[in-house]
Amino acid sequence: MKIEIKNEEVRSEIIQRIEEISGENIYKCYQCGKCSAGCPSADEMDLLPNQVIRNLQIGKVDAVLNSRSIWVCATCYMCWIRCPRGVNLTSLFEACRLMTLRQNLDQVGLKEAIKESEEMDIPQIAIISLLRKLTS
Ligand code: SF4
Ligand code: SF4
Repeated sequence: MKIEIKNEEVRSEIIQRIEEISGENIYKCYQCGKCSAGCPSADEMDLLPNQVIRNLQIGKVDAVLNSRSIWVCATCYMCWIRCPRGVNLTSLFEACRLMTLRQNLDQVGLKEAIKESEEMDIPQIAIISLLRKLTS
């Protein structure tokens, strides 16, 4: 498959913002895959952690911001611990979530979350934590 990479996409403002918020340089990654191999949420992801950063490197930011991966990340820091280049993917995921939430695009509805918590008997503190992570 032919992938077209445009300079204006690679150095787009949104990618620069993601780097600024996360404090991370996406070009440190050399795609060894150790982050993905150790990620406990990988089975639930549509883009593996190394694929998330690869998409950012080639300017495909929409693929990342529209992915399920950034929301199922458990913020466990395993990827950062395993990375031979010290790339803090956890912060990059958080920055991607923030970029989406700043567009007022909530990932869960309040009513649905409360209904689900009642059905599943989830502690209220877990619901508050969920809403903090997934709503703007
Ligand atoms: S472990 Fe680090 S260098 Fe390897 S693919 Fe993941 S982010 Fe890139
Ligand atoms: S912080 Fe997120 S991406 Fe990194 S290993 Fe944990 S669940 Fe996976």
